[in-house]
Amino acid sequence: MNTHQPLVTLVGAGPGDPDLLTLKAVKALQAASVVLVDDLVHPDVLAHAPASARIIHVGKRGGCQSTPQAFIEKLMVQEALAGETVVRLKGGDPLIFGRGGEEKAHLEAQGIAVRVVNGLTAGLAAAHDLGAALTHRAHAHGVVMVTGHASGAGPLPPVDWPQLAQTAHDCKLTLVVYMGVQSAAALEMGLLQGLPPDTPVAVVEHASQPRQRHALGQLQGLQKLLADEQLGSPAIIII
Ligand code: SAH
Repeated sequence: MNTHQPLVTLVGAGPGDPDLLTLKAVKALQAASVVLVDDLVHPDVLAHAPASARIIHVGKRGGCQSTPQAFIEKLMVQEALAGETVVRLKGGDPLIFGRGGEEKAHLEAQGIAVRVVNGLTAGLAAAHDLGAALTHRAHAHGVVMVTGHASGAGPLPPVDWPQLAQTAHDCKLTLVVYMGVQSAAALEMGLLQGLPPDTPVAVVEHASQPRQRHALGQLQGLQKLLADEQLGSPAIIII
């Protein structure tokens, strides 16, 4: 009989560069018998799992073919109850967007213990690649991490871009937008209602990776910048 409480470890794989894994993440992978992997995770990261571990790819890029969230959650429960040492490997930090919080809550509701190993989130890797200090004392009092994808289809109303822009302007906050490429037009239009047109913006695609590309511009023209530079997902927009 298996006397251990079933456990799933949610592990942050970082933004892509396999050298940005934490030692804790490496140790969790070394101990895994089953690994469920998102598609933004660099393949070299998986080399830390034992050769005998079962690797299951459950990626679901926005808008693309996807493994339904309910199926992923069911699979994790099933494997944990079967006594497997389950690692759920997620891009960046497991609890910054990407539904990590929902997965944790679902598992706990099923009586499964959850351990979280945090990872370096893409927004910080993007700032690093630009050599930019998100909280430079001369420019910002703080940072807001915000999704550009919130259409209102989820449990919350959509992001109020004009209001956020006003707050960022008044309180001197840097905005770090995840999943913002598809909605760049709405983002630009909304933010221009509270921030000056010449507010500096940067877009970083594939942060921390050899294929990283980025562009600098101004808030007015953000959408054109993305189109001209052919920057696409995954990208972070810093405003
Ligand atoms: N948990 C992840 C975020 C998941 S949401 C984290 O903490 O980083 C997915 C979004 O993250 C993408 O749409 C993109 O905006 C951003 N992203 C993830 N990896 C990225 C990378 N290497 N470079 C730029 N953006 C990235």
